[in-house]
Amino acid sequence: LNSRLAAFGTTIFAEMSALAVSTGSVNLGQGFPDTDGPDRIAEAAVRAIRDGRGNQYPPGPGVPELRTAVADHQRERYGLVYDPDTEVLVTAGATEAIAAALLALVEPGDEVIALEPYYDSYAACIAMAGGTRVPVTLRPHGDRFVLDLDELRDAVTDRTRLILLNTPHNPTGTVLTREELAAIAALAVERDLLVVTDEVYEHLVFDTAEHLPIATFPGMRERTVTISSAGKTFSFTGWKVGWVTATPELITAVRSAKQYLTYVSAGPFQYAVAEALRLPDTYFTGLRDDLRAKRDLLADGLAQAGFAVFRPQGTYFLTTDIRPLGESDGIAFCRALPERCGVVAIPHAVFYDHREQGAPFVRFAFCKRTEVLQDAVKRLASL
Ligand code: GLN
Repeated sequence: LNSRLAAFGTTIFAEMSALAVSTGSVNLGQGFPDTDGPDRIAEAAVRAIRDGRGNQYPPGPGVPELRTAVADHQRERYGLVYDPDTEVLVTAGATEAIAAALLALVEPGDEVIALEPYYDSYAACIAMAGGTRVPVTLRPHGDRFVLDLDELRDAVTDRTRLILLNTPHNPTGTVLTREELAAIAALAVERDLLVVTDEVYEHLVFDTAEHLPIATFPGMRERTVTISSAGKTFSFTGWKVGWVTATPELITAVRSAKQYLTYVSAGPFQYAVAEALRLPDTYFTGLRDDLRAKRDLLADGLAQAGFAVFRPQGTYFLTTDIRPLGESDGIAFCRALPERCGVVAIPHAVFYDHREQGAPFVRFAFCKRTEVLQDAVKRLASL
């Protein structure tokens, strides 16, 4: 393994899911739903395979049906107008989109600012691109993890190439506000930075929170690479269909990398996801309402068990502080939790450069059936 990747080892998600299986624990670690997405969309994939649509290499940028559906989605939801032929690229999940964007846009030695805690593939992809990661830490403030805008401003140097954003944010559940996004956008314009924004949880927002794509802010459309995927929105994480929207110049750059990573992405699933993006609004509100109820069930259970709980504004993850339990080391706590009570969770610390900042925080996923969450709550009560 080369020196760029040597530090990264096995992803925490694989490690913790294996631990859940070997100990028979309830897996609230890795974020994947335990119920598949709509039957009708699964049927659409089966139909595409049977009808011979996408069984051979689909077009490099993605099938036109999906590119058009993505463009329509961005326009109808956010008023963002993208040309499906030149400004949309289909990828193998958001994961490939992140990798391709960083490989295409970062020169060796460039600095990439990422919100810490960050999704683990960001660090590895910045390293593969030869870039230098500059973390800006989100810190708990009241019931929410917040971004210190002065710290962000101070993190920008002459070497900064781009800001890698993620909202709604995994693992904290923070949804960046209009004011925060406006400040980030103003900084990007002032310092002439690109923004790569991971919006895979765009539809998973609760209560009064609203997802705002940073590309909608003044001066941002031309400098933003927006990434999303079908995994979270449609509960088909195994399909690995993602997409990028950006200017033709940026799309061409990202595609240059994508063509040598996977060349194209799974054909039949693209047709099915095109259909999924056109589901009626009741699908999207139903998903949200279901997850909000699950969030509250787990949040209340964890609070009863003695955790301090940050009730998330978005995503299907919930962050806790374990210090009220008399614990302070999240990694040790998560390693012991399966034996102690048969539940798997993810320690925040693995998503930090400043590990001590994340030490007492532990993430639980709530994208699980109600009875599974009830079982987990019962187990956690015995802690
Ligand atoms: N994004 C999911 C999570 O945060 C896991 C995806 C993965 O295993 N790479 O839990």
